[in-house]
Amino acid sequence: MKCSTCGEKAVYYRRFEGQWQCKRHFLRSVEKRIRKTIRVNGLLEHGDRLAVGISGGKDSLTMLHVLKKVAGKRRDIEIFAILIDEGIEGYREHGRKNAEDFCKKEGIELCISSFREEYGMDLDEMVRIGKKDDPTVRACTYCGVFRRKLLNDTALKQGATKLAIGHNLDDEAQSIMANHIRGDLIRSARLGAKAMVVDDDRLVPRIKPLRDIPEKEVGLFALLKGLPVDFSECPYADESFRWSVRDVINDLEEKYAGTKYSIVRTFDNMLPMLKERFTDSTIGACSRCGGATSKDLCKSCILLEMFKSKR
Ligand code: SF4
Ligand code: ZN
Repeated sequence: MKCSTCGEKAVYYRRFEGQWQCKRHFLRSVEKRIRKTIRVNGLLEHGDRLAVGISGGKDSLTMLHVLKKVAGKRRDIEIFAILIDEGIEGYREHGRKNAEDFCKKEGIELCISSFREEYGMDLDEMVRIGKKDDPTVRACTYCGVFRRKLLNDTALKQGATKLAIGHNLDDEAQSIMANHIRGDLIRSARLGAKAMVVDDDRLVPRIKPLRDIPEKEVGLFALLKGLPVDFSECPYADESFRWSVRDVINDLEEKYAGTKYSIVRTFDNMLPMLKERFTDSTIGACSRCGGATSKDLCKSCILLEMFKSKR
């Protein structure tokens, strides 16, 4: 097939719009949409020191590639990368190597924090301990809690004003539906392109520049750009509730093109109301680590205590 714009050989069909795209027009259109998300949502501001959370996967390296292009032209914005090593044997090493190579080549400062150094144990060990009591426990539950905290704390330590995360359109649609199914509207109120629930010095605002790009397009972008991307999947991935939600949404997208956009756009229209109604403004400090929480102990301190007692 031929590109609907220039007639060159097409590499991609944007089904939703009925458009064929050649390599040049495909890459241009992805980049243009990322820049638009940044502009429309005011994701980058004068004086920002931007931390970019990377894993070595397609999403995060694509995000870092584009952000470096955008921010690299501005003298008023600094950019650096953070990688969290959860300690997943046979998986994380590849991503880490790619991330290190990429940052070295691009001259981007990279900070690495690991579960082992910070919490005294790898994710693999947390899962082993957790499963002793409850065989149905999911690695992603632990991973999510500790990775979010460590990303935030590392960004904070490095003086970041914002933290960019590589959530693409599919991720955002999945989060929206997963929260909906669980009835977790407080968590829903924390979604969006610029996710900041409360203005709190201990929480670095999160931004999602890839939020309007479908996962498939991010993968193709990374491939066509020749980014050193790790396409392997986490061995715990199929355990996740999110994966079931992903399958349902992908199924719907296949039958009704535009489903993912529609889920996210409809949600965006409701978001201001959700924020008004479900924002938790009474965030206190964890009595152990001082981190932000609305309870006495934060979730990570509760889990760490449990792991240590059962080790
Ligand atoms: Fe962590 Fe689950 Fe993602 Fe694996 S699939 S990296 S365990 S959140
Ligand atoms: Zn704590």
